[in-house]
Amino acid sequence: MSLRIPREGLPSRGFSLLRKSLKNPKRENWCQCHLADQQIPQLLEKVDSDVAEKVRQGGCLHCSGKLHSAKYRRKPRGQPKEDWERDQEVYRASFYCDQDGCRKRHTPPSVRFLGRKVYWGFVVVLVAAMQHGITPPRLHALREGLGVARRTVEHWREWWLHTFVQSPFWSVARARFSPPIDLKTLPLSLCEAFGVEERRDRLLALLQFLSPITTGSIPLGWSM
Ligand SMILES: [Zn+2]
Repeated sequence: MSLRIPREGLPSRGFSLLRKSLKNPKRENWCQCHLADQQIPQLLEKVDSDVAEKVRQGGCLHCSGKLHSAKYRRKPRGQPKEDWERDQEVYRASFYCDQDGCRKRHTPPSVRFLGRKVYWGFVVVLVAAMQHGITPPRLHALREGLGVARRTVEHWREWWLHTFVQSPFWSVARARFSPPIDLKTLPLSLCEAFGVEERRDRLLALLQFLSPITTGSIPLGWSM
């Protein structure tokens, strides 16, 4: 993962159009398409395993030790009830240094998880984005379908508007955007900046951009 986002990689055309269409009914369609996209979890797992392998091959960041696997189980929530077995077990890669006196843990950045949140990271992004884009009854229906409590979505909103914007990651990363990201409509404004409405790979690009915040044991500048 790199924080270097080529400016030409961010769509500048259509920004104003997207902002104006904040209450456009079309908005909920792209979010729901992504949320229902059964290929996304597998795609994200592949990306995570590639990144994990690079972390492992790089060895210990603190000494010359080798890294050994210490993967741990996660049960991410937020898959559509009708499409997925809920609370499916998945593994998050993690490694520890094999040198006595070091033994430092290395948890690779992830596009699947956002910190300690129990839901899939893309659900935290998309459902929180939808708060700004659709009517309360439709958001309610979406939450129900994914098994997400209203309080949980409120916590996500707090996290985006306070914890995220005050993070060391964002203090560096925000300068990469032109025009600047509208903090009041996070994470919808980030979705717009990455063009997530348009394609699945843009959602992946956004999750990769966010992935440094998913680990405390790999430095922010670590490059994939
Ligand atoms: Zn070490």
